[in-house]
Amino acid sequence: MFRLVNLEKKFGNLEVLKSISMFIDYGEVVCIIGPSGSGKSTFLRCLNLLEIPTSGRIYYSGTILDPDLDSKKLRREVGMVFQKFNLFPMFNVLKNITYAPMHINKMKEEDAKELAMDLLAKVGLADKANEYPSKLSGGQQQRVAIARALAMKPKMLLFDEPTSALDPELVGDVLEVMKQLATEGMTMAVVTHEMGFAREVADRVIFMDKGYIVEEGTPEKIFSNPENQRTKEFLARVI
Ligand code: ADP
Ligand code: MG
Repeated sequence: MFRLVNLEKKFGNLEVLKSISMFIDYGEVVCIIGPSGSGKSTFLRCLNLLEIPTSGRIYYSGTILDPDLDSKKLRREVGMVFQKFNLFPMFNVLKNITYAPMHINKMKEEDAKELAMDLLAKVGLADKANEYPSKLSGGQQQRVAIARALAMKPKMLLFDEPTSALDPELVGDVLEVMKQLATEGMTMAVVTHEMGFAREVADRVIFMDKGYIVEEGTPEKIFSNPENQRTKEFLARVI
């Protein structure tokens, strides 16, 4: 689905991504772990061209991406879920979910509403359709954000620390929804500090440090038998 070749991203003189080469297969769940400031969010944002790489190539579905031409289409197909939910505060839950399908995908209102209700049921919030985001817990808001992303029928979802802003007791429900999506075959790239989730759900774990992919492999390899000294030191701190 994605292949990155020598991807680099600079902000001014700051080199944030340094020659990243990797791929993501259809149906794969890739978890990205690593210390704060290592470039994980920038990496994720390059995948849907929220950040424009300074150099390197991104292939999507076998075709090289041109940031000037492909951003809009790509963002329709590759959805993103943020740490801070970013729901529209002035819309109720239902409208948060129906807005993009109606205005971007030109879906009819009744179809968008039906889709939204199906998705709310899927994330366990069918009874919250008429609430406003401010009335929901963080975990509920994040599940609405996931439903909103799914309403665009994405081919892939990017998650940037989706549970980091949540109280600990609310994390489980969100991870459960993500696990369900993974089981259904959704392609996902997940930046996370939830090592239990990465170990259980990821097909592949990528450890990033200082703008490099330092090590990648199956969860078993990364968590039980890491080879790189920096991976070992990071895991020793977080597990
Ligand atoms: P992580 O998600 O692993 O914590 P980030 O990708 O957010 O790392 O950031 C990596 C580095 O890039 C940090 O030093 C950060 O300050 C810097 N950075 C990120 N976004 C910007 C930006 N828009 N402008 C300037 N520097 C940025
Ligand atoms: Mg980040």
